[in-house]
Amino acid sequence: GCGDTKEEASTSASDAKEADSESSGEKSEGGMVGVSMPTQSLQRWNQDGENLNKFLTEMGYEVDLQYADNEVQQQVSQIENMITKGAKVLIIAPVDGSALSAVLAEAHDAGIKVIAHDRFITETEDVDCVGTFDNNKVGALQGQYIADALDLEHADGPFNLEIVAGSLDDDNASYFLGGAMEILQPYIDRGKLVVRSGQTTREQCATDAWQTDVAQARMDNILTAYYTTEKLDAVLCSNDSTALGAESALKSAGYGSGDLPFPVITGQDCDTANVKAIIAGEQSMSVFKDTRALAKQVASMAQAFMNGEEPEYNDTTTYNNGAKVVPAYALEPIVVTKDNYQEKLVDSGYYTEAELK
Ligand code: BGC
Repeated sequence: GCGDTKEEASTSASDAKEADSESSGEKSEGGMVGVSMPTQSLQRWNQDGENLNKFLTEMGYEVDLQYADNEVQQQVSQIENMITKGAKVLIIAPVDGSALSAVLAEAHDAGIKVIAHDRFITETEDVDCVGTFDNNKVGALQGQYIADALDLEHADGPFNLEIVAGSLDDDNASYFLGGAMEILQPYIDRGKLVVRSGQTTREQCATDAWQTDVAQARMDNILTAYYTTEKLDAVLCSNDSTALGAESALKSAGYGSGDLPFPVITGQDCDTANVKAIIAGEQSMSVFKDTRALAKQVASMAQAFMNGEEPEYNDTTTYNNGAKVVPAYALEPIVVTKDNYQEKLVDSGYYTEAELK
């Protein structure tokens, strides 16, 4: 089941941590890289941590890998520790992108390079670059999927839509929602899509810490209040953990049985639980962001800094973090559905067949 995979992921992540602390006696020639990930509760950050650890170790660096349990203060102390231990480069996926200014000023004072990993670090000049995905496109792919699935250009409608967005402290969440609404808002304006709850702003649709049970509780409330006689046709979920919550709420309300089919439901990350839901017809799609490719890109950024060079960027104009424009390498996200998961996820070696059973 999906619990197995999660356990596997966190066991190997803590193995990695153990291996790392065992090796911390003999400092690697290459120098130390601090890797600060937000949480182990979501599958992808375990993959990010493991892959970064693997690539950086192969490159000859010592790795200090830490997870912050979604706690801002814990992440700050972990980064402070990395600075004290003599890290030369920090790779950080922040819990709260705007809460690291002080500790990153310390890092820069100590001559340490700072790389934002996947999530943006905002309101500070003390970040050197970001390795991420085209996050606006993630949202646009989700929005376009809904538009195509409901055939909004041709069908009469109107169709009912609800929106489940990400955490307010995650800057990525605004790009996801923004990208999706660029596609969907015109249909809402034309009356083809109706959001019966009236909840369409980022604040109204937010899911604290991207938690499944928070998304589920909000969807339970929406279904009870607005969908006793009406049926829901689509749910824009910004990622897979929130999609799981929406799916549980919908199931409890009777969707997926009798003559009440599941609505079109989007996601992001291709977590194993969600790929299983896609195979079972409970989720329509997930946006796949290959965490192997991201880790490789970010590890090569660290290597460039270690060599006193500037990393390679493919976008030096888009990402203004409120204090500076942060040079970025943004990878391409793709849509995964029932029709292509075999090719994109299994044939590519991302998952084994067994992990999706
Ligand atoms: C990441 C997503 C992830 C979410 C929740 C975002 O910053 O880009 O891949 O689903 O955080 O952890």
